[in-house]
Amino acid sequence: DCSPMPKPSFNSRIESDFLTSAPNLSKCPEPKFPEVAFAGRSNAGKSSVLNQITGNKSLAKVSKTPGRTQMLNFFECKAGGYLVDLPGYGYAKTSKSDQIAWQKSVNEYLSFRETLRALVLVMDIRRPNQEYDQELINWAKESDLTLHILLNKSDKIGTNKKLDALRKTQLEYKHWSNVSIQTFSALKGDGRGELINKILYWFGDPVTTSS
Ligand code: GDP
Repeated sequence: DCSPMPKPSFNSRIESDFLTSAPNLSKCPEPKFPEVAFAGRSNAGKSSVLNQITGNKSLAKVSKTPGRTQMLNFFECKAGGYLVDLPGYGYAKTSKSDQIAWQKSVNEYLSFRETLRALVLVMDIRRPNQEYDQELINWAKESDLTLHILLNKSDKIGTNKKLDALRKTQLEYKHWSNVSIQTFSALKGDGRGELINKILYWFGDPVTTSS
């Protein structure tokens, strides 16, 4: 299920089309454009976030197509960059060998993809920092990669709890220079302007949008 669809009243989005899927770094498209990768535990809402900021429902469908869920899925953006949907993790039934394959392809990509500008990590605001989230965060730190944490599904909790969760995560990473954190709701669209502006900035595009 790749709902929810973005609200039509929003005036900005990152227009994107599916380009290709790659099983590993060597099969990725030529590194010609700045890239922003999305990672997240299964069910954290990564597909819904991509729907929300691109306004393209078929985008996340691609990423949920059997055979593509373990791939790095590339989307070409009119703004002049690629969005890369990394395979989700934390499925209860994932075999050990699939887990190892996931780690290998994702770690290789994060470590050596020369055009990678930033990693967006999608977490459920009610359950952040699960197994593998932490691993990816550490990997980003070791690779000196810009990390943007999305505390998604903010609509599921009240304003006070939302701010508490944001402050708590900000405190955890206050010594890291290359980490930013925001709350987000793929359902309601909260935080989409902030995320879109970041991505356009990473793409090297002038920031001309608002929401
Ligand atoms: P993925 O596995 O990380 O790609 O997660 P999905 O995008 O498929 O979302 C998993 C479930 O969470 C779906 O039922 C979504 O509708 C729901 N969901 C995703 N984002 C949000 C959100 O911001 N708020 C709420 N309430 N539900 C969300």
